[in-house]
Amino acid sequence: MTDLTKTHLNILAEFDYDLQPVDKGYTNRSLYVNVSDNTIQSKPVTQHMKDIFIGGRGFGLKLLWDAVTGATKWDDPENEIVISSGPIGGITQYPGTGKSIVVSLSPTTNIVVDSNVGGYYGPYLKFAGWDAIELQGIADREVIVFVDGERGKVQIIEAPMDTVDTHLLTEELLELFADPKKPNLVSSVTAGTGADHTLIGCLNVSYFDLPRRLIKVKQAGRGGTGTVFRHKNLKALVVRIPKMSGTLNNADDQSLLNETGRRMNKEMHENDPVQNSMATKGTPVLVEIMDKFDLLPTHNFKFGAHPDAHKIASTVWESLFDLSAPDGCWYGCTMACAHGVQDLELQTGPYQGQPVFVDGPEYETVGGVGSNLGIFDPLQILELNFYCDTYGLDVISYGTLTAFLMECYEKDILNLERTGGLDLTWGKFEAAAELLHQMGSGTGFGKIAGLGIRRMKQYFAEEFGADPQLVQDIGMEAKGMEYSEYMTKESLAMQGGYGLANKGAQHDEAWLIFMDQVLKLIPTFEDKAEALHYFPMFRTWFGLNGLCKLPWNDVEPTDNRTKYKGIEAAKVPEHVQNYVNLFVGVTGRMDVQRGEDLIEMSEAVYNFQRVFNLRMGYGRREHDAIPYRSAGPVTVEEYESRQERYDTQMKELVGVDPEGKTTEDKVAIMRQYREDQYQRLCDAVYKRRGWTQDGIPTLETLKRLRIDFPEVVDVVTAAQN
Ligand code: SF4
Repeated sequence: MTDLTKTHLNILAEFDYDLQPVDKGYTNRSLYVNVSDNTIQSKPVTQHMKDIFIGGRGFGLKLLWDAVTGATKWDDPENEIVISSGPIGGITQYPGTGKSIVVSLSPTTNIVVDSNVGGYYGPYLKFAGWDAIELQGIADREVIVFVDGERGKVQIIEAPMDTVDTHLLTEELLELFADPKKPNLVSSVTAGTGADHTLIGCLNVSYFDLPRRLIKVKQAGRGGTGTVFRHKNLKALVVRIPKMSGTLNNADDQSLLNETGRRMNKEMHENDPVQNSMATKGTPVLVEIMDKFDLLPTHNFKFGAHPDAHKIASTVWESLFDLSAPDGCWYGCTMACAHGVQDLELQTGPYQGQPVFVDGPEYETVGGVGSNLGIFDPLQILELNFYCDTYGLDVISYGTLTAFLMECYEKDILNLERTGGLDLTWGKFEAAAELLHQMGSGTGFGKIAGLGIRRMKQYFAEEFGADPQLVQDIGMEAKGMEYSEYMTKESLAMQGGYGLANKGAQHDEAWLIFMDQVLKLIPTFEDKAEALHYFPMFRTWFGLNGLCKLPWNDVEPTDNRTKYKGIEAAKVPEHVQNYVNLFVGVTGRMDVQRGEDLIEMSEAVYNFQRVFNLRMGYGRREHDAIPYRSAGPVTVEEYESRQERYDTQMKELVGVDPEGKTTEDKVAIMRQYREDQYQRLCDAVYKRRGWTQDGIPTLETLKRLRIDFPEVVDVVTAAQN
């Protein structure tokens, strides 16, 4: 192990704490670090906090709420980055149980963002003694915050290296902080140079792949948390623990965890190969499915399929992935979907010519920097994936905003002069890569692109005379967050899944496309509203507990679809019961017995987050608006590409005969209809969630969920007056 006393590290502050075992999933304290004045403190985690906010995203929201006011901006010292796993986080008996949730005020949305990430940091932080870490302030030099769970010390250390990009920095941190014989007992959080120069910076959370002797990283991608991190002059967070085992949570009933995990792991082993093959193909298994159902975003979400999609299908990725060892991003994850590619030789940028390991790609990356840009070369997609990660840039936002730029280029809003020589024609990898390098270095047109789509819409209208309505329609962001990679034109429920999501256009609250568009299980507004109640609440629960969503429904019991029908089958009831078992098994909370109890826990936190948005000046109906391309065809080209479908819908749904009408007229008629449908969906969802028709939780709802704290009631009361 590196002897820290011999490395001449400049330790700016040090805090000693008692090492104590975790008690039923909690350490019952959180760590507060202020890098402005080098304060380090321990704060109690009360029973009330555990009862209402549970952990993970809930703890993040509560701690951030207490740290900021309605006037705080993302770049104020008061803004925080909070990272917490959750009570179940860190068990190893069940797949997908090692997640951390990052919470902060977002530079792109100005509201709270929560981002769920793999890697080891959150669970290790707990095993080192802390349920959450709160980072506040702005350091006057670059610092590393080191939590040493071996010695019971927290240190703020002046960073001894200049390196920022993650693939190099994680190596240096490992050398500095890990015992070479136990490299898997250290985890770091880092960003990259892209996070220095854009608003879409992400955080990379590391884990050590022992069989391959490799450091890998997973991303807390959404909402610019990496930008906040670098603005605070944080070089890295590092945690080290003395040992790892499957019982460090000191669960109330370990045998219940063992039994539930055994059953699930058997099911995973038998069913994954015949269902989604996540263990060999990973999330790119979705590429061909999305293409088949016209859902794969292509050319900035204009279309949902492409003749070249087979070139980036899952079989291609399967042949490129190194499958020589299991790929779990946490111990014991038998779904093991976190694949990567060895020895990609980079063709561009500062690391050109070097062979690198690429973590990924995930489906979102393939859709975002592949089909949506018209790029169908897998090696080019991998290169963009690598650079986004090492620069600390959210690959989804980069992909979606570059697609927007390419369409602006096609529509002559941009040209070579305005882009500084970037030929942003569909499919041009070299230009996409150069833009990415400019975002990484804060140069050229990359400085504008790094502002994100919402700010670019305004900039293009003001500086380049772009039609404000057109850029609003085709710029795929909601609440200021770039869309993740699913087409929603034919799924009203999924439009709501994006538009109504608390943090912005991310699909991890609700993914209802299949249920709605393909299987047609939720035909009425009430059905869709019920789905937009249940599924966001259920998925929120994963973020409260340090869990990954994928093992919930990417593999199902063999008899799930015969035992349960329709929307009930989509809930995967036996897996819901597994999660009840895990929660009870870890915490010993015997008042939790049914799936509905989990929903109620989430509802409290979810509504608290909605009120938090309100406190920041958002959180009303107007803020749930979506760009029209999310709901229907903006252009003649789009309409005519699926003319038969739209003409039929006009006749059957709108009651208007398309015969003899120009395409422009038909686009306008369809638009009026679809925009009205979206508003009616909002009406139904607000009602179901116990919100006013302006999208504000009522006082009765706050009371029912036991979040009617005076300061919460004040925000809601003020908003209603
Ligand atoms: S299912 Fe995949 S993403 Fe989720 S924890 Fe397992 S390896 Fe990580």
